[in-house]
Amino acid sequence: MADFSVRHSLADLEEYEVETIDADIVVNANESNYPLPAVVRQDIAARMQDFSYNRYPPMKCETLCALLAEQLGIDTDKVRVGNGSSELLQMACYAFGGAGRKIAVPYPSFSMYGVYAQMSDSEVLHYPLTVDGYLDADAVLRFCRDEQPDLLILNNPNNPTGNYNPLPVVEAIIAGAGCPVIVDEAYMEFAKGDGVDPRDLRPLGQLKLVVGSALALLHKYSNFLVYRTFSKAYSMAGLRVGYAVGSSLMTKILGKTLLPYHVNGYSLLCAMACLTHRDAFAPQIGEIRDQRDLMAQNLEDMGMQVWPSQTNFLCYRPAGRLQELLARAYDQKYGPNNLSQPSKAGKYLFKALLEDKILLRDFTEHPALPGCLRQSVGLPGENAVVLGKLRALCRAIVGNEEI
Ligand code: PMP
Repeated sequence: MADFSVRHSLADLEEYEVETIDADIVVNANESNYPLPAVVRQDIAARMQDFSYNRYPPMKCETLCALLAEQLGIDTDKVRVGNGSSELLQMACYAFGGAGRKIAVPYPSFSMYGVYAQMSDSEVLHYPLTVDGYLDADAVLRFCRDEQPDLLILNNPNNPTGNYNPLPVVEAIIAGAGCPVIVDEAYMEFAKGDGVDPRDLRPLGQLKLVVGSALALLHKYSNFLVYRTFSKAYSMAGLRVGYAVGSSLMTKILGKTLLPYHVNGYSLLCAMACLTHRDAFAPQIGEIRDQRDLMAQNLEDMGMQVWPSQTNFLCYRPAGRLQELLARAYDQKYGPNNLSQPSKAGKYLFKALLEDKILLRDFTEHPALPGCLRQSVGLPGENAVVLGKLRALCRAIVGNEEI
């Protein structure tokens, strides 16, 4: 072993790993399973005719920032673009955190927040969500008063639980946090329907899709950034484009951490084509919402506990008698183990689906979500296949017993 040391904060950091298999149905990463609409692909092909391969892309993604700003009805300097919202999250941790500074992240939520905070040498503070995954504004503000974080991250709707927090809750936190706040709205385009207060639905600029979003608070507060991505509702996970919107002060600070020419020209061009044909995504976003609600109902009918979701995924676990019977089946199939009953029950289903080349996200051993699986909403045919397999698996275990 070579005799060298690494930066302190990296010593106990593991490289990010998730199951990757050659699955037939991939519903583990909250991507869109819908291809880009034809009109967008045609527009990309046309724009590529005179693409300048030999030139650097716009240094600060100015073209895409300008189009986003125009659609949002705000000044261009209030927008920053990154390689996925991931890059902007990481860079915000460098900008607002650092050695001797604190970053507060929600729990249970997107685990990468803590990783980015740690990479920046910041102290990571986890503030708890309610048992159902909601923000409790009073509790978060108390936490901020006690811990004095230098950056607070909110995720709305929250991954992996899927639940949506009403805008007044988010507003109370932004108003009272006393520090910069990031509101990560990676999944906000899917939020509509039961659980969203109609008073939260405020149009912004030319956008019809701003639903319960902190974007509506831009004119009121200058200490926050809203994060959005093209990876989910806009079917562009493969191109890695996300953006942050906030006050000129916040975007200026974030901008100090970004490299020149950091987003490649092809990704910028594709994102511009997406935005130009924003309306073409409405049918698939609507179908994902409808499928999500239908799937939730079906899963509940099977005996699952399903978290209320306003995203393109569902978080659920076998509950009650179904959980008991699946856990027993797990022991019979896999032998002695130290897992809890909820974990065994969830894992039984996860592994059985994997054998059928269906890949979900396994949260069964997550301390705050024992037994949980997270499943992205796929194409209607894919959703029907996964539900059919789950139903058959549960029926085979439960038999004729009423659960
Ligand atoms: N925020 C949340 C809550 C996410 O779930 C993800 C992706 N899983 C991201 C940010 C990052 O998305 P991207 O980098 O693709 O924009």
